[in-house]
This record gives sequence, C-alpha cells and structure tokens, in this order.
Amino acid sequence: MRNNKEKKHSTVIITDKYSHETKVFNINQKHIANFRLYKRVLLGLACGLILLLTGLLSFIVREHFQKVKLNTELAALKNDLQDAASKEALKNNKIQQMWNKLNLADSTLQKIEKYLDDRNVAVFSSKGNNNNVGGKYYPADKVNFNLIQQRTNEITNILETLQSVPLGLPHEGNFTSDFGVRGNPMSNSGFEFHPGLDISGNTGEPLYATANGTVVFADVKGGYGKCVIIKHIRGYETLYGHLSKILVRKGDKIQTGTIIGLLGSTGRSTGPHVHYEVILNNEKQNPIEFLSVK
Ligand SMILES: [Zn+2]
Repeated sequence: MRNNKEKKHSTVIITDKYSHETKVFNINQKHIANFRLYKRVLLGLACGLILLLTGLLSFIVREHFQKVKLNTELAALKNDLQDAASKEALKNNKIQQMWNKLNLADSTLQKIEKYLDDRNVAVFSSKGNNNNVGGKYYPADKVNFNLIQQRTNEITNILETLQSVPLGLPHEGNFTSDFGVRGNPMSNSGFEFHPGLDISGNTGEPLYATANGTVVFADVKGGYGKCVIIKHIRGYETLYGHLSKILVRKGDKIQTGTIIGLLGSTGRSTGPHVHYEVILNNEKQNPIEFLSVK
C-alpha cells in the first residue's frame, strides 16, 4: 500500500506470486478511516437481517398453526350444522308422523259420527266443515295446534256420547225371543208384538246397565214384573224386565256396567230371563241394532 498523489486516496496493490500479475485499487482514505464503522454497520445489518428472518419465520409458523386451528373449528362448525340439520329433519319427520296419525284419527272419528248419525244419535261434530265421510286431510305444513285441540274435544265428546247410548247387552245368554211379531208364548195361540229382546239366564245373575244415565223407574210394572227403566241422553231409554231383585232407586245416576238388578222371572214370564228394550224418542227399537258397532 502506498500513498497516492492525492492525499485523499490510498492505493492497494495485490500481486500474484506465480503470474506476477498485479491489481491496483484506489481507496478513499475516508473509507479506510471508517472501516471499523462499516464493519459495525455490516454486523448490525447482519444481526438485523437475522432478527427479521427469525421474526418472519415465527410469523409464518404462527400463521400456519392459526390456520390449522381455524380449519379445525370450521370442520367442527360444519359438523354441528349437519347435526342440527339432521335433528331438524328428525323433528319434521316426527311432526309428519303425528300429523298422519291425526289424519287417521280424524277419518275414524268421522266414520264413528256417520255410524251414530245413521242411528239418529246427534253428536256435536266437524261435519259442518266437510261432508266427506272418510276424513279431511290436513297437510303437515299447516300444523295447527288449535285444530288438534278441537279434534281432541270432538273425540272426547264422541266418547261421552258413546257411553250414553245403549250398546251391547245387559246380560250374556241365549236370545229366546227376538224383537217383533211373534206367536203368543203364554197361550200358544195368536200373535203379538214383542217390543224387546229376551235373554235367558239363571235367577240371581247380575244385569248391567248398557249406558250412562238416570234411573226413572224402579218398581213393579204390570207384565214386566220387577222393572228398571233408565233414561239416557239424546232421547234414549232402556228397560229391563222380569227381575228377581231391583238394586237401584229412581233418581240414581248410573254408569255403563252398573249392576241395576238380578235376573228373574217376575211378571208375565215363562222362565228366568231378562226382557230388554231400547227406546228412542218413545219408540221401541230392535236391541239387536245396538249390539255391534259397524
Ligand atoms: Zn220379552
């Protein structure tokens, strides 16, 4: 190294000992003086770069894990949504099933109404809304809980009506004489109108009321012997004749199945049996009509 003509520069000569070639560099002395400063600056830059790279790396790593976490949360959310959707579908399915049952019940209800209507039994019903027997069809998307309540009330009403209309028999036994014109059983000559059904049995066997009602007669009644008459709703009455013993009193409120007396042969009778009548609006009906529900 030697000083150049201009004091501000130093010359650096690099020689190759084999080829004896030289290279000459003129370096501003200011740079040589600042060499330590440059070294520090370079070192500083290097440290800065390392810090920057480290920061960048940690940012990338953090971002990656953040993304993984978000993806996991997103997948869980999707699962939740699918769960909710399937639960909703299940709920809708249950509503549909319930609605199908309601439609079936409604159709059955209207058949019962028609059956009772055919027998002049008035039932408060939905018939005013729709005359098609066989039921209305309610689409499931029009679920109306007031309507369900209405149908439930109607079913309750029908049940009460059914319990108040004579159905079935007061006693199980053979039918020894049907409703209608028959030969005179007492004299074996001529004909008479038999206004009820005779059911044979043994004296002392229980006789059951065939519907809810109020006892309006409980005493001896001519040829009927010991007799009970029960008044039901809608103009119905039932009569039980030839009892050996009466077990109810006039004015008693009784339920279907109540034992009203014991079978016997009192009055105009040829042997132990119950004479059973069903009366609608003061007209004698054939009790056979009330033995089954079509
Ligand atoms: Zn009779």
